[in-house]
Amino acid sequence: MSLFVFGHKSPDTDSVCSAISLAYLKNKLGMDAKAYALEEPRKEAKFVLDYFKVELPEILDPSKIKGQDVVLVDHNEIAQTADGIEEANIVEIVDHHKIGNLSTDIPISVRIMPVGCTCTIIYNLFKENNIEVPYEIAGLLISAILSDTLIFKSPTTTELDKKAVYELAEIAKVDYESYGMEMFKAGTSLDGFSIEEIVNMDFKEFNMSGKRVGIGQVMTLDIDSILSKEDDFLSYINETEFDMVVLAITDIIKEGSYLIYKGEDKVISQAFNVNAAQGVFAEGIVSRKKQLVPKLTDAVKNI
Ligand code: MG
Ligand code: MG
Ligand code: MG
Repeated sequence: MSLFVFGHKSPDTDSVCSAISLAYLKNKLGMDAKAYALEEPRKEAKFVLDYFKVELPEILDPSKIKGQDVVLVDHNEIAQTADGIEEANIVEIVDHHKIGNLSTDIPISVRIMPVGCTCTIIYNLFKENNIEVPYEIAGLLISAILSDTLIFKSPTTTELDKKAVYELAEIAKVDYESYGMEMFKAGTSLDGFSIEEIVNMDFKEFNMSGKRVGIGQVMTLDIDSILSKEDDFLSYINETEFDMVVLAITDIIKEGSYLIYKGEDKVISQAFNVNAAQGVFAEGIVSRKKQLVPKLTDAVKNI
């Protein structure tokens, strides 16, 4: 009977790439294994598969899972796994998350390590088994590690992740930094969204000292395409009924946000310690909850 290998719901790059790579390894080791995705993979994962010319895994049909031997990668929580998992036999887990709430009837093989990415563990499984990593699998593995570790900027990054990336970069023939940026850019591209959709994508309203303040935040690396349409964003937010609107375009790699706003310059200057101007970069400002809201609240109150 073939093994089903799959990552979590709302599949990210690690979930997709670790399923495909582990299924490949199992096949090389003489087992019959097949990678699946639980849902349509995210944009970034699709970019990666396209880049390395690997087919999208089939979406798992939940009715097929009954009595099936399955391997979970990049997750181990019931809420994140396939519907109907109670009827399947989990035979193995390869993951880098805390242990959740799964229990099994029989002993199973578990490989959980506190590293930045499941694909780092899988790369080491290739090594342990003396199986050569081919070009496209190296591409998938390195992509997932760069994704989960935000090109080593995430505090979850370990030496093992870095070592894997350096070695895999040779096989996949990529400059890992520029490739990683290209991947993030593709994954966070706002192509096809209107000005209105971008502003309202993640928009919340607040009352600050009696003023109606709206704060929208967009996480993207597609900064240039937004800033080039700054005037269009401004005319849209200036026409809203809010007393103040701040649109924060957050660059996760530069760890800060570009601000386009309706409101007084001095409030923006004071809140974020910048010389207020449209499109100004507020260094270190990445969280609406922890930074944008309290800093603006204070500045509105004090001016
Ligand atoms: Mg994941
Ligand atoms: Mg992961
Ligand atoms: Mg992730």
